[in-house]
Amino acid sequence: MALQLPRDWRLQAQRYRLLGAKCRGCGRVVVPIRPVCPGCGSDDVETIKLSGRGEVYSYTVMYKVPDSFERSVPYVVALVRLEEGALISAQITDVEPEEVVVGLPVEVVFRQWRQYGADGHIVYGYKFRPVMPGMAATQ
Ligand SMILES: [Zn+2]
Repeated sequence: MALQLPRDWRLQAQRYRLLGAKCRGCGRVVVPIRPVCPGCGSDDVETIKLSGRGEVYSYTVMYKVPDSFERSVPYVVALVRLEEGALISAQITDVEPEEVVVGLPVEVVFRQWRQYGADGHIVYGYKFRPVMPGMAATQ
């Protein structure tokens, strides 16, 4: 478990700001950030801040998960296609699993990801929630 911590800290900035890499050659946007564009092989990529808005591209309902996720079973893990075109894998929150459909508009939120055992170390990161008409007014 301890081996995961440095990686978590290193990725923290990306998680909280939802950054991606945009290729200056072909325009492709990918998450997480990579030094080389998977589309055209160019290394001329720039870091951009993503809008955090998109829609569900595909999804899976998870019923059996590691202990650290126990409190939130079942939950939905989706591939979200962001407005910028990037696909990102994330949990869908604030929704019943049966309400998730392909094409559902979603937006990013930052929530607790998991809590480690003995030391209680908590990792926060992005999840996505449905965008409902009028929802913004209640936030
Ligand atoms: Zn490219």
